[in-house]
Amino acid sequence: MIEEDYRKAPHVVILGAGSSAATTNALSIPGPSVMEGFLEKAQLSSIIEKVPLKTTSKNFEDIYAELCTLPEYARELSELEQKTLEYIKQFHLPNDKISIYEQLILSLTPKDYIFSFNWDNLLLEAYKNVKQRLFQWNVPFTSVMPPLPSLVHGCADLGFCLKCHTCDLKIKRSHCPQCNEILKDCPIVWPKEPKNYSQFYIDSQLSKMQEVLAKAQFVTIFGFGGAKSDSTLIKALSNAFRPNGRYNVAEVEVIDIKSKEEVLKTWKQDFDFICQDHFKVFSSFKDCTLAKWPRRSVENFADFMLFNTTFNAPAPTVSITETPSTSEILRIYLPLIREELSNAR
Ligand SMILES: [Zn+2]
Repeated sequence: MIEEDYRKAPHVVILGAGSSAATTNALSIPGPSVMEGFLEKAQLSSIIEKVPLKTTSKNFEDIYAELCTLPEYARELSELEQKTLEYIKQFHLPNDKISIYEQLILSLTPKDYIFSFNWDNLLLEAYKNVKQRLFQWNVPFTSVMPPLPSLVHGCADLGFCLKCHTCDLKIKRSHCPQCNEILKDCPIVWPKEPKNYSQFYIDSQLSKMQEVLAKAQFVTIFGFGGAKSDSTLIKALSNAFRPNGRYNVAEVEVIDIKSKEEVLKTWKQDFDFICQDHFKVFSSFKDCTLAKWPRRSVENFADFMLFNTTFNAPAPTVSITETPSTSEILRIYLPLIREELSNAR
């Protein structure tokens, strides 16, 4: 039945460096820099000061890409990779405050998916924090949480199963939760021609994203600019999304501090990802549909499409801030979670 079909379709979230920046800025804590100006902010410029680069770009990907073409500076390249990972690993989320990443995870349900193009492990920390909170609220987290986010560019905290392509937090177990194979270290995917193992990993992530986008009803792109080095991958995703039977009624929301014109140039003109006028652009997470209608975004959208209810009306009980207190979080998410659990019985 078409109505039921709409409601069961996934909400897919794609994250880039801007989402980690929004998360740490909202908490007023230090966080990883975005790619533009990365070396200065991470204080890594000295590694390449003797390298005669032609590019004048301050973007990490441009500098990295040119460094890869200079075999005589292989030592600098290796040092840059190592120091970048050390820099990324130093950032953590506090346990006692609710981050945007935690709100994002709590706003999604088991049928939904998160894909991140970031190297930092803030999203995985948020996932662990949400599990902990749900446990404290006596909620069976496996029944209400979205699957573990996919980190498309790899992450040192993840293990990867070569047999069935499952990823899992490395600290938890060393065996694949699906097929019991021993988990390998998840590769870090750098913005260059991938090596065999990292190509294998990217391919596994890409096919998962394609499979999910082919049935998505709603896509939220948060702080992800679609870097040059990712353009082939994004075009492949767009090609998977467009034949989606719901594409003509699928909604795309972009959360970005860039202007609406710039956002449209990237996602409509360059990548052909957005269908007609089915998109919205927001400058912060608190204004997007997931924040306004947590855990019910697809259902509300389906009602709007099928029964012409007012989609833009404010959600009845939810008013979210970027750093809500624990009691606000309980008030917002727990009634929705309890409702789902009682419906499932
Ligand atoms: Zn496996």
